[in-house]
Amino acid sequence: EQHLLTIDNLKVHFKTYEGEVQAVRGVSFHVDKGETVAVVGESGCGKSVTAQAIMGLVPAPHGRIVDGQIVFEGKEITAMSKKEQLEIRGAQISMVFQDPMTALNPTMKVGRQIAEGIVRHHRVSREEAHKRAIELLRMVGIPDPEKRVDHFPHQFSGGMRQRVVIAIALACQPKLVIADEPTTALDVTIQAQILDLLKRLQKEQRLSVLIITHDLGVVAAIAHRMVVMYAGVVVETGSVQDVFSHPRHPYTWGLMRSLPRLDGEKQRLVPIEGAPPDLLHPPKGCPFAPRCEFAMEICDRQMPEPAVFGGSHQAACWLHDPRAPRIEELVAAGR
Ligand code: SF4
Ligand code: MG
Repeated sequence: EQHLLTIDNLKVHFKTYEGEVQAVRGVSFHVDKGETVAVVGESGCGKSVTAQAIMGLVPAPHGRIVDGQIVFEGKEITAMSKKEQLEIRGAQISMVFQDPMTALNPTMKVGRQIAEGIVRHHRVSREEAHKRAIELLRMVGIPDPEKRVDHFPHQFSGGMRQRVVIAIALACQPKLVIADEPTTALDVTIQAQILDLLKRLQKEQRLSVLIITHDLGVVAAIAHRMVVMYAGVVVETGSVQDVFSHPRHPYTWGLMRSLPRLDGEKQRLVPIEGAPPDLLHPPKGCPFAPRCEFAMEICDRQMPEPAVFGGSHQAACWLHDPRAPRIEELVAAGR
């Protein structure tokens, strides 16, 4: 069966004064119709760059896709004409950015900003588009939309502004919405409301959502499947249920340990010691090796292939190679 979006062996590099940074180093995953997939990892792991590549927003001339394919509904976006790409990226795939203030035009009424996309991609009158803007504001939970449609962005609170941004993203009835840290700029109670909204819209509109986040709490709240990235590669992927209940990669174990517990007792965050590798000179082997308490000799020498568990669950780690010592033995030996 055909996935809505397939990323296959994507590689994105950035030219800097020091040399070429290999920000994304052969990333593959997919998003099916009607599902929410979270790409999770620390800053600099390549998750935002992956989203930019899908949206055609890798900043030229320094950044460029050097290899791989991005296929949407069976068509390779990266091989299309600029015009076709714009058509897909405005109407079929849309984006919700982290900071609603920079995503909105401060000098234009929100209703007009919503209507613009509709008029650009669909043959409807301005009046029709205005009506649709009011409906969209209502759909994203903005009270009194008939009045609010004529307000400017600064007249909304941060959370309401992000709702407006989501309304704009939905204006053309896209099949896929990409949301890059959509709640990071908001305070905690508002974050939860925006996640609830995205979840409701995803269900009601049978949308596919690709959410980019550093926050496992966000993943747990909203996603069906997750893709864990580290140093420009995918280290683990699977259903949220499988990865949370049986994480298979030492980096994911570290992420889980650093997850603050929400069950009453305040727990300290345990950060993973050390820093990710320099992607100007990416390591030949497993990029997590310098920080991994289970690292073996082979880990530095060779990149592990993904090991497959049940369902769609995979992890790229030598510990799952049949020749590796058993994890229990390593733990017992005090590693
Ligand atoms: Fe640790 Fe080796 Fe697995 Fe990398 S491949 S996570 S270094 S055990
Ligand atoms: Mg980012």
